[in-house]
Amino acid sequence: MSLVTRSVMHGAPVVGVLYQEPLDDQDSGYRVWSAVDDTFDTKSVRRRRALVCVRCLLVDHPEVGALMDRARARGADGVALVHDDPREETGA
Ligand SMILES: [Zn+2]
Repeated sequence: MSLVTRSVMHGAPVVGVLYQEPLDDQDSGYRVWSAVDDTFDTKSVRRRRALVCVRCLLVDHPEVGALMDRARARGADGVALVHDDPREETGA
């Protein structure tokens, strides 16, 4: 399972992924948020208020896959943001 904010659950575009040490074997370690949230409130991890399985998350938000890979590549507490990906830049 991954933890997402409520706005992500309701379809807001994802802007960031945090990867943390998984809490247990149910937890993927991914924390996902949207521009509405500004960041992921890590205090909500223990409350586990918005759990979504990674597969379903990727169906609704296919763009998150690349962010997950980049966050995880940065190790525990690694963060990947949409706007730090050169491929997402529009030029100018
Ligand atoms: Zn699912």
